[in-house]
Amino acid sequence: MKIPFNDLYTQYQSIKKDIDQAISSVITDSAFIRGQYVDEFEKSFAKEIGVENCVSCANGTDALYIAIKCLELQQGDEVITTAHSWISTSQTITQAGGKVVFVDTDETFTINPNQIEEKITPKTVGIIPVHLFGQPADMGRILEIAKKYGLWVIEDCAQAHLAEYENRRVGTIGDIATFSFYPGKNLGAMGDAGCLVTNDSALANWCKLYARHGGKGEHLIEGINSRMDGLQAAILSVKLPYLQDWTRRRQRIASLYIQELNNIEEIMLPTIAEERTHVYHLFVIRTTKRDELYQHLSEGGISTSVNYPKALPFNPAYSYLKHTHADFPNAFKNQKEILSLPIYPEITDEMLEYVFRQIHSFFK
Ligand SMILES: *Cc1c(COP(=O)(O)O)cnc(C)c1O
Repeated sequence: MKIPFNDLYTQYQSIKKDIDQAISSVITDSAFIRGQYVDEFEKSFAKEIGVENCVSCANGTDALYIAIKCLELQQGDEVITTAHSWISTSQTITQAGGKVVFVDTDETFTINPNQIEEKITPKTVGIIPVHLFGQPADMGRILEIAKKYGLWVIEDCAQAHLAEYENRRVGTIGDIATFSFYPGKNLGAMGDAGCLVTNDSALANWCKLYARHGGKGEHLIEGINSRMDGLQAAILSVKLPYLQDWTRRRQRIASLYIQELNNIEEIMLPTIAEERTHVYHLFVIRTTKRDELYQHLSEGGISTSVNYPKALPFNPAYSYLKHTHADFPNAFKNQKEILSLPIYPEITDEMLEYVFRQIHSFFK
């Protein structure tokens, strides 16, 4: 049996008629860049998340860059973020003119709130927590610290559509939040797309202006060009109504994994903190036999992945910060032990049974 890591084609098959119809409508209306399909998606996504404003843009990386710029970061300002994420989170801090300050993760794979305060200096302006793998970061503690020191908070929600912290959806908690609709994300386009959401309408307008060349007709500022295209918006509008069901299916698969694997001593299952709902963009286990398990599953036709093989501070891109492994012991340990198992709404119970059997045969 072959088990892919994700299966976007099967998802397409399940909603093919509506997707094809949506694509055809955009072409018929020549609504390629922004326009009605984009407006419509922005409205429905804002409503789904429960925020006042959604500003669409070209991808989740741009969303972070736009958010940082529009929070008026000054050259040399410091921004605190997690040592374990995709590089979009930290590269955009630098690209906006800031200085990246990394903090280690805790047992939930998200930023350790107990280690944030010691990294704050007079130059610190903000914190970017990442709801990594689909589990919210400790937003209560993070907001407390932000308030105490007068810092802004951008939530990187790229992996956490519909996840909740104390019954509030992520994206509604910080000053502004960013989402990615990269095809493999929990809500994925058929190309690149992203957005920002916020209840702060003035900030949303500023982001809109910045992302659209600083205005039309009259340019109030020099902005950038970061737009969602009509095809992606129309596709996302078709998929959005399924997101809750798809999320529940991911959670169901996760509970089956947990049930099946919790008697294997050499596997550490994901730790889910209280008051947080995990939406399982990725199902990440830890084992000291990671590379051997990866190999064993691969030989059995099962694709797994390591997200990510190197924590951010240990990448050559950050060698200038001169960090050592001892600076981020948790992220360092995890990078050697983490393995992402296949989890997507379309994986069948039969396929999962096969994955369980293959994992059990490795550890027996
Ligand atoms: C995917 C991702 C992004 C970037 O999104 P793109 O749409 O690929 O630019 C940012 N942060 C995290 C945590 C991500 O997983």
